[in-house]
Amino acid sequence: MTELSLTDVLRARRTIEPHLPPTPLWSYPMLNEVVGATVHVKHENTQPTGAFKVRGGITLLAGMRPEERERGVLAFSTGNHAQSIAYAARLFDVPCVIVMPENPNPAKVGAVRALGADVEVHGRGMSEAQEHAEKVADDRGMTLIGVAEPELISGVGTLYLEIFEAVPDLDVLFVPVGGGSGAAAASLVASAVAPRCRVIAVQSESSPAAHDSWRAGACVTRPNHTVVEGLATGRGFDLPQQIMRDRLTDFVLVSDGRIRSAQRLLLTHAHTLAEGAGAAPLAALLARRAEFTGRRVGVVCTGGNASAAEVTEVLAAADPAG
Ligand SMILES: *Cc1c(COP(=O)(O)O)cnc(C)c1O
Repeated sequence: MTELSLTDVLRARRTIEPHLPPTPLWSYPMLNEVVGATVHVKHENTQPTGAFKVRGGITLLAGMRPEERERGVLAFSTGNHAQSIAYAARLFDVPCVIVMPENPNPAKVGAVRALGADVEVHGRGMSEAQEHAEKVADDRGMTLIGVAEPELISGVGTLYLEIFEAVPDLDVLFVPVGGGSGAAAASLVASAVAPRCRVIAVQSESSPAAHDSWRAGACVTRPNHTVVEGLATGRGFDLPQQIMRDRLTDFVLVSDGRIRSAQRLLLTHAHTLAEGAGAAPLAALLARRAEFTGRRVGVVCTGGNASAAEVTEVLAAADPAG
């Protein structure tokens, strides 16, 4: 199995530096008051694709051999992974195909096409889309990019370097989890540069595969019913789980309802439109706020790609400041 270290993250930072400026880390007095702690919000929603994954996409494509690049890349995803790979492919002039299951959200198809990628709609669900993507990759000699590749982990690790450089004495950091690459990167970087900072991973209780895999010490499959796209996964992935195993402090579950409420709080108290996954860290913090009174807390707003329908749900959610 691949051994990743801080060196890989430092190298990734040199790779992405010319392409992506550091994102802001802001603190909001009104939000701090509600939480009872100093909350530092890392704004990955300001990335050009609206989500943190683009750090990984650029790192991975930058490291490909010229002959691999020429044949192109392929991913199956409806969401931010698709946009990350499409963005990096355009940057490096690499042909890119994104496979999505039938009846995709037209806005998501539009976002990927606007980045210059070809969208192929195939399969009734993600697993059929995956089969099709594997076949296309085989037939055309394109590189299929999964969600838990080592370069994606070292690439997204750069955001945690930025956090600890800005606030070296952070007490605790909350990170949302789908496949687990982001939380793996967070725990890797924290253990190397801020070993006293607790890193707490967060998933939806409606899709607990990564959480349960971490608790079990082995990858498991679980029902996958969350409406929060970035957190939706039905299984654990080996590499991120292996990295998180000894480094992550804790792993918690929150309800989709609490995530919507946290999105609302970011909107009303932090001028921030977060998608569900980007507010899951704040939701977990709010659920345990008594434990962190007066502390310095980091929450990663991993993305801001909320649809209009999602924003309507957010405005109807319970007000946690209420
Ligand atoms: C993908 C994604 C996540 C989860 O990241 P993993 O590295 O898959 O665990 C969290 N938030 C957003 C906005 C995402 O797009």
